[in-house]
Amino acid sequence: MSVAKEVIRVAVIGAGAAGLVALRHLSSQTETFQAFGFEQTGVVGGTWVYNENTGSDEYGLPIHSSMYRDLRTNLPKEVMAFPDFPFEKDGPSFITHQAVRKYLEDYAEHFKLKPLIKFFTEVESVKPVQGQHGEQVWQIQYKDVRVKDSLVETLETDAVIVCNGHYSVPVIPDFPGMEKFSGQVLHSHDYRYPEPFKDKVVCCLGAGASGQDIMLELAKTAKQVILSHNKAPLKSDLPANIHQASGIDAMTETGAVMKDGEECHFDVLILCTGYHYTFPFLSPECSLNIEDERVIPLYKHIIHTECPRLSFIGICKQICPFPQFHNQVKFVLKTLDGSLKLPTKEEMDADIKQDFEWRLGQGFPKRHAHTMGPMQWQYNDELADIGQFEHIPKVVEQLYQDVHKVRVTQLQHYKKCNYRLTGPDSYIEV
Ligand code: FAD
Repeated sequence: MSVAKEVIRVAVIGAGAAGLVALRHLSSQTETFQAFGFEQTGVVGGTWVYNENTGSDEYGLPIHSSMYRDLRTNLPKEVMAFPDFPFEKDGPSFITHQAVRKYLEDYAEHFKLKPLIKFFTEVESVKPVQGQHGEQVWQIQYKDVRVKDSLVETLETDAVIVCNGHYSVPVIPDFPGMEKFSGQVLHSHDYRYPEPFKDKVVCCLGAGASGQDIMLELAKTAKQVILSHNKAPLKSDLPANIHQASGIDAMTETGAVMKDGEECHFDVLILCTGYHYTFPFLSPECSLNIEDERVIPLYKHIIHTECPRLSFIGICKQICPFPQFHNQVKFVLKTLDGSLKLPTKEEMDADIKQDFEWRLGQGFPKRHAHTMGPMQWQYNDELADIGQFEHIPKVVEQLYQDVHKVRVTQLQHYKKCNYRLTGPDSYIEV
């Protein structure tokens, strides 16, 4: 007599790109998985849902998205896409946030994901508990954000996939003399458009993707933009009113003294200093630690080694996000359905240690434990090889790397280029 296989119940927290790709693959195997999506807002898209307001939303939740009004993607849509769902072929390669949001909406519609999601539902707590047969299950507590003091409801699942994003809780550096500064200070999380900074001198602190982007937006109307950072000076051609300075050593009433001793005067300081990982809903029993922006203990940056049915999509930084999320999800589902046997806890912990120590040996600071950059392609392929599924087409890597090279020297112009994929290994510029 055959025994009916029990369906694996999986909670997916968040309906941004990561949550959607998780739901898409879970729902394509209904004989194996039952998916329960949770999204605290009323829509899908996460980061790509622009909100002109800052602070809290109408239900008192902190505004999640750090999107700015005039953002165009810093990757061409040809590489941004999930491998099984291309963007529309026509139109520019570097697209607006509205176009990315529409793409994610279309993805959710196409794969019929919305019925799987409880909207306006904030997950408050995730806790491992013992199931009826002694196995570990997850107790998910959630509530309707629209109802004040709403009842907290509970769901039990066999697995949890955390997809809550990590561009919402700003890193705010504390420089000596901060309290003396008489100008305005804001984080890039709260930057929306350049108009309020017209004719002002603005210092953008940090030369990551947001710092570079916001600097260029501001330069069109600001009197001067100071880009303060600790990296080697940008090699790109830049507008004449941009001045590169070293990192801030201490603030003064009218600006800052930089690390190389230069005194800079400015009206506004925009902190483009990145974001913290936060998982406020994970109970202490989940044993997840964050040390210096390192999320521990995650095997392959995804799977909690102590409780492997708790996984995280989208932890890595400096990546081509959607294709990587796709691979991470496929990897997780293979471990959940039993077709991929994970190494022992000790082996997984040793793998994490080896990866981290290798990074330190290469000179990476600790906080770059999840930074990928050029390593992302090998990592994506490794997941595919271990999980025995198809690699991301080579053209994604080629075009990504080529765009990166152009970007380094032509920051002002690289988004004017348009590309078309012509095969799994080739593209053309159009
Ligand atoms: P998010 O999109 O942040 O989604 C997380 C979701 O989880 C949100 O909807 C949130 O409401 C929900 N959530 C959080 N906590 C809870 C809870 N407790 N209960 C229920 N729901 C919860 N990527 C590119 O590919 N190209 C680009 O050009 C690009 N530009 C970017 C520009 C900016 C300014 C930023 C911030 C990011 C950019 N990215 C870009 C990266 C982008 O973050 C990723 O592409 C991707 O959208 C991240 O998806 P995610 O699902 O991991 O997180």
